[in-house]
Amino acid sequence: FIPYLASLKFKMTTTSRAQFLPEYKLVVIGEEGVGKISLMHQFVYGNCPVEIDPTLDQAYRKQLVVDDELVVVDIYHGTHTNEAFGGLSDHVERVSDGFVLVYSITHRTTFSKIRSYHERIDRIKGQDASAGIIIVANKCDLEARREVSMKEGRDLAKELGCAFMETSARHGLNVEEAFIDVVRHIRRSNNPNPG
Ligand code: GDP
Repeated sequence: FIPYLASLKFKMTTTSRAQFLPEYKLVVIGEEGVGKISLMHQFVYGNCPVEIDPTLDQAYRKQLVVDDELVVVDIYHGTHTNEAFGGLSDHVERVSDGFVLVYSITHRTTFSKIRSYHERIDRIKGQDASAGIIIVANKCDLEARREVSMKEGRDLAKELGCAFMETSARHGLNVEEAFIDVVRHIRRSNNPNPG
């Protein structure tokens, strides 16, 4: 009974602490196979198994420090098919604070979809949504199979007013940086004149 009480106390303490932390909802969007789940897994667990069962975790949650403040990030993922993001309702997008638009540098077709994701977010969230969007060019470890140059990715992000980062979910390169960057942009756009 006493261990039960102790575990209950622990649960209550961690829950009530988390309730006071600023919370950000992110959605990771991209074609199948670009590495959405791998990026989320790498970010939350610090590793990237070759095969991840996509049904295991629909939502990932992590505490992290952004600009010296502890925050909570909730991350969802969806696949873009025609006009709908499979598995993600409009509601999830509407209540999301930020978006991680992923393509693979090894498949140009995945890059060509980024503009349509952006248009859809604009429609749902309004023109000021770009502050909370990062374009992520994943699989940058596969340089020999590169089909999209870094300049093309960067130019598109600049044109759309989004942040940009090349990542490797496999090697954990720039993954945490990308998630921190999008949260930082959301925080700054919510609070443009701190102090
Ligand atoms: P999703 O369908 O977009 O969620 O893609 P997954 O995360 O399931 O990844 C698809 C495949 O690409 C898996 O075999 C991953 O191991 C692989 N993959 C994901 N990210 C990278 C990366 O940065 N580099 C390499 N080489 N492979 C990756």
